[in-house]
Amino acid sequence: MSAAHPVILVVNAGSSSVKVSVYTVPEAAHDNADINPVLSAHGQIEGIGVAPRLRASMADGHVVADESFPVSQVADHDAAFRLVRLVLSVGLRDNPPVAIGHRVVHGGSDFAQAVRIDDDVIARLEALIPLAPLHQPHNLTAIRAVRKAAPDMLQVACFDTAFHAGHDMLAQLMALPYAYYERGIRRYGFHGLSYEYIARRLSQVAPDLAEGRVIVAHLGNGASLCAMRNGRSVDSTMGLTALDGLPMGTRCGSIDPGAVLWLAQQGMTADAIQSMLYGESGLKGLSGVSSDMRVLLASEAPRARLAVDFYAYRAAQEIGKLAVTLGGLDALIFTAGIGANSPPVRSRICAHLETLFGISLDAAANEENGQRISSNASRVPVLVLPTDEEGIVALSTARMMKACGKG
Ligand code: AMP
Repeated sequence: MSAAHPVILVVNAGSSSVKVSVYTVPEAAHDNADINPVLSAHGQIEGIGVAPRLRASMADGHVVADESFPVSQVADHDAAFRLVRLVLSVGLRDNPPVAIGHRVVHGGSDFAQAVRIDDDVIARLEALIPLAPLHQPHNLTAIRAVRKAAPDMLQVACFDTAFHAGHDMLAQLMALPYAYYERGIRRYGFHGLSYEYIARRLSQVAPDLAEGRVIVAHLGNGASLCAMRNGRSVDSTMGLTALDGLPMGTRCGSIDPGAVLWLAQQGMTADAIQSMLYGESGLKGLSGVSSDMRVLLASEAPRARLAVDFYAYRAAQEIGKLAVTLGGLDALIFTAGIGANSPPVRSRICAHLETLFGISLDAAANEENGQRISSNASRVPVLVLPTDEEGIVALSTARMMKACGKG
């Protein structure tokens, strides 16, 4: 790690994990050149409150920590964040970070781009907790922990909603009484940091496709689709919250709102319904086996098979819907844990798309997770591009750092 270059941290606090990445920010070649932060180390704690495990490594793969902890030592996100920082700070002693960028899931209608964090921003992000109960509280825990330990540290919030901020009114509306739209009850879309990265990456690897009508399938633990025209988001399958759209690991995706009403009328509290829709549904709920796609693919259980079939069916259906928004389809991109690594899931989704879109896969390229997995005969090219949400947060944070004259 070069001591001369400013260092920034990127924090990604999830429901049961805290990930911290260390980037150095080299001088831009000239005033108008874009900044290109370089990953130098990464640390994370998974299994917070259940079976905490810390791992940290340098960008070259050298492991600097791999240790399990008793729950009592890493009971919450605050403790996890302090521990990861402590481990990473060993390498940062001579060159402490000048800025910290946070992945924040919900920016609501207030934030259409990354923002410098102050008390007012924190208050506005707190107000959005009910719209992202699984993620927003943990994002805020990390922000508050830094503010307490280093009040002058430049902190930047980078939003999963921001990439979708330019959506047309038709893509934002839900057919509730209009007053609710004005109160912010509208479709926002999420996974925007991932989609922003993919838009940049696609313009590098296939600039001709990047200018066209593209659907990106971010299929991880959370899952959504984004319709892009010329690298800009025009619609997404996720809406007001990260529950909407595709079925996910433990989240239900789109369901009839009447089902929620029915649950409430049966006497379930709002909290119990929330726990079920976010934590007990999706692949886990349908299969009764696991939320992990690898486990389901290896399972003989009939409902594991049913869950995967439903997942592929729904993903294909929603691709059709977004193709209507785009008025056609020039490329389909798969990304995130399942999208970038699971040939059988991609092939099951694409099998549904053969008749309507003339999509066919090259079986060998798909099996190898190659970059272009469609066959030569396919009417629509299909690509696999691994995502890098932290890289986008690093970039926005480095730009803010320069704008603020730090580093
Ligand atoms: P993410 O949230 O992007 O980390 O993705 C997590 C999901 O990716 C989990 O459901 C994993 O089972 C899934 N996943 C990761 N690697 C593979 C793989 N090789 N095959 C199938 N699913 C995978």
